[in-house]
Amino acid sequence: MFDNLSEKLDSVFKKLRGHGVLSEDNIKQTMREVRLALLEADVNFRVVKEFVATVRERAVGQEVLKSLNPAQQVIKVVRDELGRLMGEGEENSLDLAARPPVAIMLCGLQGAGKTTSCAKLALQLRRQKRNPLLVPADIYRPAAIDQLKTLGKQLDIAVFDSQPDRDPVLICEEAQRYAELNGYDTLILDTAGRLHIDEQLMAELVRIKDSLQPREILLVADAMTGQDAVNVAETFNAQLEISGVILTKLDGDARGGAALSIRAVTGKPIKLVGMGEKLDALEVFHPDRMAQRILG
Ligand code: GDP
Repeated sequence: MFDNLSEKLDSVFKKLRGHGVLSEDNIKQTMREVRLALLEADVNFRVVKEFVATVRERAVGQEVLKSLNPAQQVIKVVRDELGRLMGEGEENSLDLAARPPVAIMLCGLQGAGKTTSCAKLALQLRRQKRNPLLVPADIYRPAAIDQLKTLGKQLDIAVFDSQPDRDPVLICEEAQRYAELNGYDTLILDTAGRLHIDEQLMAELVRIKDSLQPREILLVADAMTGQDAVNVAETFNAQLEISGVILTKLDGDARGGAALSIRAVTGKPIKLVGMGEKLDALEVFHPDRMAQRILG
C-alpha cells in the first residue's frame, strides 16, 4: 500500500539528512521533489499545490531553520501535514446516535465494493452489539439481491426479503417498518450502482434519502481508481450531501491519490477503509497512522 510514494519520499528525505544546516534553497529543492512524488501518486493537483505551500511556509519558518536537527523537523512537518490532509484530529466515526432503527445508506458506482462493504459493515456493527438488517435495494443489477442474501447467510445476519419488481424507495420503507417491528436497530441500505453516474440513479438515491433520512450516507469508492474516485465523491456529495466515504481496495492501492485527496476536495472524511476481499477486512480510517505509514 502506497509503496511508490513511500519510496519516493524516503529518497527525498535521505538527501535532506545529509545536510547539517538547511538553507531556503535546500527546502525549495526538497519541496519540488515532494511535489513531484505527490503528483506521481495521483494526488489532486490543487491539493498538492496547497500542501506544498503550507509545508514550505512552515519549513522555512523559525521552527525548522533554527532547529538543531532541521531535516527531521522538515520530515515532521510533512508528516503532520499529510495527517491533516487526511483529517487527523477530526471526528470520523460513524454517528448512529438516533432513535432506532438508524439507517445507513451506502451508495457508489457499480464494482466499487458496495455490496461487500454492506456485509462487512453489518459484521462490524454486530461485533459492537448492534442488531443490523441488511437491505438490498439494487433492483437493476441481476444477482445483486442474491449476492447480499448470500453474504448475509454466510455471516448469519438478517437480510430483508427485497423483491426485484418493487420500487427501491418502497423496499427501503418496508424494510424500515420491518426493522421496527422485529427489533433491528440498524438498517444498512445497499443502493443501486451504475457504471457511470446518471441522473436517474441520483434521483432515486435522493428519493431514498428524503424518505428514510439516513443518519449516515456513505459513498463507497474504489481507491484504485485514483482521481476518478475523487471526482465521483465530488459529484455524489454535491447531489446527496454524503456524510463520509468508505474507501475500498486500499490493500491493492500502490499510489494513494484517492486516500490523500478525497477529504481535501470534498470536505468529507474517509470513515472506513476496505483492506481486502474477506468480510472482516473493513477498518476504521486513522489519518495519523496512515501518514506515519507513508513516511515509513
Ligand atoms: P458493488 O458492485 O459496488 O456492489 O461491488 P461488490 O461488492 O460486488 O465488489 C466488487 C469486487 O470488489 C468484488 O470482487 C469484491 O470482493 C471486491 N472488493 C470489495 N472490497 C474490496 C477491498 O477492500 N479489497 C479488495 N481487494 N477487494 C474488494
